Amino acid sequence: MSVEAVEPRYALGGTISFDDARRHRLMGGKCAGCGAKVFPKPKICSSCWSTEQEDVALATRGKLYSFSVVHAARKGWPSPYAIAYVDLEDGVRICAPLEGDVANPPPLDTPVELIVGTLRTDADGVTVLSHRFKPVTEAR
Ligand SMILES: [Zn+2]
Repeated sequence: MSVEAVEPRYALGGTISFDDARRHRLMGGKCAGCGAKVFPKPKICSSCWSTEQEDVALATRGKLYSFSVVHAARKGWPSPYAIAYVDLEDGVRICAPLEGDVANPPPLDTPVELIVGTLRTDADGVTVLSHRFKPVTEAR
């Protein structure tokens, strides 16, 4: 009997890639006009209005800027969960779920790092993955 492997799905297709060491990288856009980096990659730069946007691998670490605990979760999501703003080391501010104990959240400015984890299970029973951040537990 063979078991068919089911590939995970990503919540935001095309936003997660891998570097040479097979670590997850979050892909954003870098404006060819002014150099601004944004996640996700926009069709037009909100700073200079250039439509020339390049793919760029974003920093994998940053600091917790802010967060909120959500108790009324969407269908299929765990509840409660924390949604955070993280300031990445390359200057991009990104919104993402925050891993950890929502009853004992980390203080603001805590160093955090990118991980990819389960967002939810879809109606077909397939795991849907997304980017998220967790407090840094080890030095680089
Ligand atoms: Zn620009």
